[in-house]
Amino acid sequence: MNPFAYDRPATVEAALQDIAANANARDRTANQHEIRFVAGGTNLLDLMKEGVTIAPHLVDINRLPLDAIEETPDGGLLLGALARNADTAYHPLVEARYPLLSAAILAGASPQLRNMASNGGNLLQRTRCWYFYDVATPCNKRTPGTGCSANGGITRQHAILGASEQCIATHPSDMCVALAALEAVVRVESVRGKREIPFAEFHRLPGDRPDIDTTLEPDELITGIALPDASRFVAHSAYLKLRERLSYAFALVSVAAALDIGDDGRIAGARIALGGVAHKPWRLPEAEQLLEGAVPGDEVFGRVADALLHGAVGRGANDFKIPLARNAIVRALHVASRGTVTNQDIDAGEGQ
Ligand SMILES: Cc1cc2nc3c(=O)[nH]c(=O)nc-3n(C[C@H](O)[C@H](O)[C@H](O)COP(=O)(O)OP(=O)(O)OC[C@H]3O[C@@H](n4cnc5c(N)ncnc54)[C@H](O)[C@@H]3O)c2cc1C
Ligand code: SF4
Repeated sequence: MNPFAYDRPATVEAALQDIAANANARDRTANQHEIRFVAGGTNLLDLMKEGVTIAPHLVDINRLPLDAIEETPDGGLLLGALARNADTAYHPLVEARYPLLSAAILAGASPQLRNMASNGGNLLQRTRCWYFYDVATPCNKRTPGTGCSANGGITRQHAILGASEQCIATHPSDMCVALAALEAVVRVESVRGKREIPFAEFHRLPGDRPDIDTTLEPDELITGIALPDASRFVAHSAYLKLRERLSYAFALVSVAAALDIGDDGRIAGARIALGGVAHKPWRLPEAEQLLEGAVPGDEVFGRVADALLHGAVGRGANDFKIPLARNAIVRALHVASRGTVTNQDIDAGEGQ
């Protein structure tokens, strides 16, 4: 690991000043910031040890008062950026009101990692494309303009939707798939002020700048994630994650599905987001609309899956992801329509 300077400010203002004082604080070339925030360190420190990320100056934000989980006046919740993934997943209000989020977080990583990983850091974790981590290979995301080793290489984990010639990486987070379905809003702050970023606009597709993962400016701090009221989806949600082994593995395909089913048995509204298939959580409101007014069933679920996967392209070793994703969408919708699988069900071995 390269040597680095280290600060541990106690206030948000001091942390923002620290970042802003740096000469290249607003340079968006993602791997070359002079200075970076560090939270749980479970991704950033690995990247620094591997030489993927060079960060001569770290600002440790763990002392900032951003670890609360609080109710908001509109019936939603505000998740502090520094609340740990484990504390978030097992928080009584999250379990009761957002079982989809709770299940998605618990499908990720390991208990030890979830104890360290912060909510803000989870949003900014970088792709698990193995070429990105291997500094001996060309990678446009790590070093812009060098080429994409995955294109024409080993593509088993890679994208089937929204990719570009420049990059076919996927976003690895489970939590973010649920946040996309729940229409979360990311609250951020810099010395220039505060702003809110709707979740659909937070992560980017690669285009010709795969080195830039998100619309967050480098000098902006994530302070929290706001969840709007989702009470209509509480009774019918499911997170289905398909992976190489049952724990401690990233998704090949995952599906966050939430249904609002009326007393007449018909679907009044739906939210579906996919993980493991694109550079960002994949959501298509037009596909969700196909479910409105429908009675849950194979035929309509299949049509929704086809709409969500419209334009999907395999690259040899990941061709299997297209039928896998179709089956996963249909299955997740069936599971959700039967009723939410809670953490207690999962702990008792009755989950998916
Ligand atoms: C072996 C392993 C397996 C894993 N498996 C999974 C999995 O199955 N599913 C899954 O979803 N995840 C998985 N993860 C990823 C894990 O969830 C992330 O590493 C973690 O969420 C990152 O959070 P952190 O607080 O440790 O971030 P850090 O490593 O501290 O930071 C990550 C990035 O976010 C920036 N940052 C952090 N907080 C803020 C903030 N508040 N504002 C602005 N910038 C910030 C940092 O500068 C850095 O660039 C796995 C990780 C490992 C190591
Ligand atoms: S897919 Fe993206 S991250 Fe992977 S090698 Fe290509 S450019 Fe790099």
